[in-house]
Amino acid sequence: METIFSFTRRLLPGAGPLCMRKLVSGNIHRHVVAVRKISVLAELPETHEMLRKTCRDFADKELRPIASQIDKAHFYPRDQIKRLGELGLMGLMAPESEGGTGMDYLAYVLAMEEISRGCASTGVIMSVNNSLFIGPLLKWGTKEQKEKYVKPFCTGERVGCFALSETGNGSDAGAASATAKDDGNCWVLNGTKAWITNAYEAEAALVFASTDKSKKHKGISAFIIPMPTEGLSLGKKEDKMGIHGSSTANLVFEDCRIPKENILGEPGEGFKIAMMSLDGGRIGIAGQALGIGQAALECAIDYATKREAFGSLIVKFQAIQMKLADMETRLQSARLLSWRAAMLKDAGKKVTKESAMAKLAASEAATFVAHQAVQVLGGMGYVSDMPAERYYRDARITEIYEGTSEIQRLVICNSLLKEYDMN
Ligand SMILES: Cc1cc2nc3c(=O)[nH]c(=O)nc-3n(C[C@H](O)[C@H](O)[C@H](O)COP(=O)(O)OP(=O)(O)OC[C@H]3O[C@@H](n4cnc5c(N)ncnc54)[C@H](O)[C@@H]3O)c2cc1C
Repeated sequence: METIFSFTRRLLPGAGPLCMRKLVSGNIHRHVVAVRKISVLAELPETHEMLRKTCRDFADKELRPIASQIDKAHFYPRDQIKRLGELGLMGLMAPESEGGTGMDYLAYVLAMEEISRGCASTGVIMSVNNSLFIGPLLKWGTKEQKEKYVKPFCTGERVGCFALSETGNGSDAGAASATAKDDGNCWVLNGTKAWITNAYEAEAALVFASTDKSKKHKGISAFIIPMPTEGLSLGKKEDKMGIHGSSTANLVFEDCRIPKENILGEPGEGFKIAMMSLDGGRIGIAGQALGIGQAALECAIDYATKREAFGSLIVKFQAIQMKLADMETRLQSARLLSWRAAMLKDAGKKVTKESAMAKLAASEAATFVAHQAVQVLGGMGYVSDMPAERYYRDARITEIYEGTSEIQRLVICNSLLKEYDMN
């Protein structure tokens, strides 16, 4: 399989960071209007820098030009997801022995930012597959489960989904009402999981259902469900505000029988699996939010440096300069928190608080920056001829899924009080 590195080397034999820079400057700026002359990021390890630039080049050549079409036509970017698979981005953190690229969370957050800067829908499809589907399978899966559900899902040919939320329980995921009954040699699932990203394209789902209601969240178990499968049907596609290229729908289980060996981990471990998976997933969503926010900032800078009012470029007005400064500061602050969460996770630390802070800061930065970008563009910010309104719509979801901003604050404060022995 061609990975992100072999792809780069094929394009540029002997490619190192310098060559990569040429590759980037040679291609992407056809689509990127506002171009930064100096690197704004702290020094990254060479492989990470190379990955970041390659993702940026890919996004600018193959995602940005069609992101508006994806949004308007609500189409699933199937070919682009396959290309991400070929580049090793759909199983970025899976070891090479499992068919993945064997990189770390820092690589993941960088890749998520660059891909989402090109197209936020493509970003969320990549994110769910990497951290919410493959991630838990790698950690809790048996050899047979990994063989069947990791390797084929790293290629971009197949995607997975993660089904935790229900219509009655989103934030309160521990109150799951879907059930899985032990029926001798199989499990029988009943109930509805709501809001499931990738529902229409997924070829497997990680589903959380109660095997013992008396134990509340400690009675929840995780199951791997191949899709399609008898007894599982899909609800209608949700008509969303943004990220139109990703499908969102209910999974409806009616006496859905699955083999006994399709449980992931032990009975009763499901809630722990879900929460630990979300610790990683939130770093990915932080990356998605940074990408959307960065795209919005670049759009605002480009417009402000071309648009004239009262005989002057609007970028000369201090009111506009204040906005650009605040936008940049919010994004850079969130980026540092996101990298920190990723690096701590790579160091094997528990990152419940850090990933919640990263997602909270990045999603609120993205909605702030996208809001300001619409303002900088004035009337042009409100029409779909320009991408600012799409960034505004796409940014909004990052404050809702994988835990709302209110829930992130609860998670952060809970960890904080524990640090002071106050909980
Ligand atoms: C486009 C999209 C894609 C999604 N993808 C997936 C997916 O792939 N898999 C999946 O499992 N889920 C998915 N979700 C579900 C998502 O995670 C939930 O919508 C989210 O967790 C919020 O749950 P809810 O919608 O039930 O809101 P509620 O829990 O009803 O919350 C409503 C409001 O009350 C607030 N609130 C709730 N409890 C508290 C509290 N204790 N303290 C303070 N405020 C509180 C919330 O912050 C929110 O503002 C997706 C949702 C959307 C919209």
